[in-house]
Amino acid sequence: MEKFERTIYNADHEAFRSSFRAWLDNKVVPHHEEWETAGITPREIWLEAGKLGFLGYHVPEEYGGGGVDDYHFGAIMQEEVSDAGVIGSANGMTLHNDIVLPYYLGLANEDQKKRWLPGMVKGELIGALAITEPNTGSDVAGVKTSGVKKGGAWVINGSKTFITNGINSDLVITTVRTDPDAGHKGFSLFILERGMKGFERGRNLNKLGMHAQDTAELSFTDVEVPQENMLGEEGMGFVYLMRNLAQERLGMAVGGVKVAEAALRWTLEYTNNRKAFGQSISQFQNSKFTLAEMATEIQIAQVYVDRCIELHCEGKLSAEQSAAAKFWVTELQNRVVDKCLQLHGGYGYMWEYPIARAWADSRIQTIYGGTTEIMKEIVGRSLTK
Ligand SMILES: Cc1cc2nc3c(=O)[nH]c(=O)nc-3n(C[C@H](O)[C@H](O)[C@H](O)COP(=O)(O)OP(=O)(O)OC[C@H]3O[C@@H](n4cnc5c(N)ncnc54)[C@H](O)[C@@H]3O)c2cc1C
Repeated sequence: MEKFERTIYNADHEAFRSSFRAWLDNKVVPHHEEWETAGITPREIWLEAGKLGFLGYHVPEEYGGGGVDDYHFGAIMQEEVSDAGVIGSANGMTLHNDIVLPYYLGLANEDQKKRWLPGMVKGELIGALAITEPNTGSDVAGVKTSGVKKGGAWVINGSKTFITNGINSDLVITTVRTDPDAGHKGFSLFILERGMKGFERGRNLNKLGMHAQDTAELSFTDVEVPQENMLGEEGMGFVYLMRNLAQERLGMAVGGVKVAEAALRWTLEYTNNRKAFGQSISQFQNSKFTLAEMATEIQIAQVYVDRCIELHCEGKLSAEQSAAAKFWVTELQNRVVDKCLQLHGGYGYMWEYPIARAWADSRIQTIYGGTTEIMKEIVGRSLTK
């Protein structure tokens, strides 16, 4: 079946895709296994990504960035990382670019931009976003990490968990309750910096998939954070989080389609070559039907996601549209990788086959960035009275 031609990317985008993919193939893919075993990517690869312009494509040139405020570039990076099967190694960079940096670009004052953006573009300062706590994830309003004003600083106490780039990060955007009586209006965002007294890293968590991604616990004991490290206005943290979630969720859908597409590609290759009962596995009616269903659904997902990317680039993608994209596509991704693994038989369960890793890496997609259930709540709320 022919694929629909994709029309959302121009020649500049495609040139960027080629150079980013070549870098992934040469510098990341060959080390992926080693980093997966180590449970972390080395900081050197961040520095190299920075040098080549893969970090901060949207950061203004005066701070050393690419100066191109165009999410197409972020989407391309997400697509290539997903297609190359190296999500564990490169997920931290797409998070740094498209989840963390938008907070700085939208909220940081001039001093903060000068202080942090050049290092973030060079890969010298690695970013993270810490919302989730041991006792609260979906229910963001349940955040307990507290900030109490003391002179010109805030004293922060609490803990976070499941934080992507948790070990490597130098700058952590941290959600803090600064007014216990103000409900949703009682949150503020602070930048916690590596080395601040009382800011400790906990375990690098042992996950089902994405092993090269450091996902860690963080703890804060009487950390004195100067007022200059508050991002945006006091009490506006919740609003800022909600504003940035649309792009975060779209990115997961963008990657989800590409993982599904790659899984289908590997499976077609495998089932066309593997023989049973005197014929290729792909020739059984069940295989053909399963492959046909997957190819069709992936195509439908791609068209929807492309439209979402276009709308997002025009500043028109709604929270509900991105939530719908996130839950539908990531659920599809999980269905596809599971069916593809089944079509590989026992080899699909072997780590040396990319489908095994894709299956493990994909499982988180319907959970982080807001679970499928929370996404359906968001969409459902907009439909009902
Ligand atoms: C690998 C990984 C990386 C992550 N990276 C980050 C990060 O960088 N920064 C960060 O802040 N967080 C991060 N997270 C945390 C992630 O966003 C949360 O795990 C997620 O939001 C779910 O929260 P929870 O784990 O507390 O689950 P819970 O909220 O406890 O949910 C448990 C179950 O209950 C369901 N549920 C909850 N509320 C409702 C409801 N109202 N209606 C119906 N069902 C409901 C959920 O859908 C889920 O099925 C990461 C998690 C992982 C595993």
